[in-house]
Amino acid sequence: MITKGQRIFTIRGIPIEINYSWFLIVALVAWSLASHYFPGQVPGLAPRTYWGLGIVSALALFGSVLLHELGHSVVAQRNGIAIRGITLHIFGGIAKLSREADSPGVEFRIAVAGPAVSFALALGCLLLLRLPGWPEPAAALLGYLRFVNFAVAIFNLVPGFPLDGGRILRALLWWWRGDLQQATRVTGAIGGGFAFSLMFLGVVSFALGNAVQGIYFLFIGIFLKQAADASVQQVAWRQALQGITVGDVMAREVVTVDPDLTLARLADDLFWRHHFASFPVTEGGRVVALKVLRDHPRARWGEVRVREVMLPFGPDLQAGPREAALDAFARLSQNPLGRMAVVENGERLVGYLSVKDMLHILALRS
Ligand SMILES: [Zn+2]
Repeated sequence: MITKGQRIFTIRGIPIEINYSWFLIVALVAWSLASHYFPGQVPGLAPRTYWGLGIVSALALFGSVLLHELGHSVVAQRNGIAIRGITLHIFGGIAKLSREADSPGVEFRIAVAGPAVSFALALGCLLLLRLPGWPEPAAALLGYLRFVNFAVAIFNLVPGFPLDGGRILRALLWWWRGDLQQATRVTGAIGGGFAFSLMFLGVVSFALGNAVQGIYFLFIGIFLKQAADASVQQVAWRQALQGITVGDVMAREVVTVDPDLTLARLADDLFWRHHFASFPVTEGGRVVALKVLRDHPRARWGEVRVREVMLPFGPDLQAGPREAALDAFARLSQNPLGRMAVVENGERLVGYLSVKDMLHILALRS
């Protein structure tokens, strides 16, 4: 997934991650700046200078994108929404909020913050450029950053969800009509239309011989379309799960497993009979969920004990029975098992929750 990456450093408690695809775009931008843009802007420099300018500018572009995402993040944090991380990737960056804003006002402020940062950066470059005495390459760099930050702000203000402009429009519609789901559908449709325009532009570019730019537009369109669809679906889920607790949807009949069982016994006694892919492991009242069988060669099932392959029981593998089903679902879809143990008072096992149960409820209610 493009929104996952390698953690590089942390700012204000926010992990900053880089997706591998990011290196490709930085190299591509640096190359295109060094071989086309800067030689056109400031002719007559040494190739080495163009390359230096290209690399510094490409990194500064993504530094600007990072500041844009930090703008969203800081405002979200101030409104009590934790940030799971910021990931830089081939299409820019994304700030991963732990949850959606719960009022139009908060949504509006978070959405506006990013483009505001980009505009401020563009304005900063503009003012710096007014100062006399810049060497030619430095002036060219500032001129480029002024242009791209302005472009980043404008692009993100397109009023289609999930772009910032779409979030701003959604907040306004939500505030005006009081219906989040409808506001999301409207802005999601605009976002989808914008995404299709980008794909179309990509195909046209490609046909006109601009292969790299064409492919990039095509993929950014596909990326935005998927993001728009996912957001609309998420809001529908949120609506469907409103007022439902984990206790309402969990399975109450839980088959538990002893840690000293071999995988072979587990398969014979439990797996083939119950068809669950995972079981809570209990030992002295302690619960440990685990993923079994699939990851281990069948030949070794006779020797390997559950204890050796079980997943340590962390917060992402458990929920409380009175917790909102939506919150649990968010964690459930992140964890590798797609299941979690429902535990009361931090110890007693009262149920088991799976993505499948959740989807079943969603299908019934929406
Ligand atoms: Zn933004």
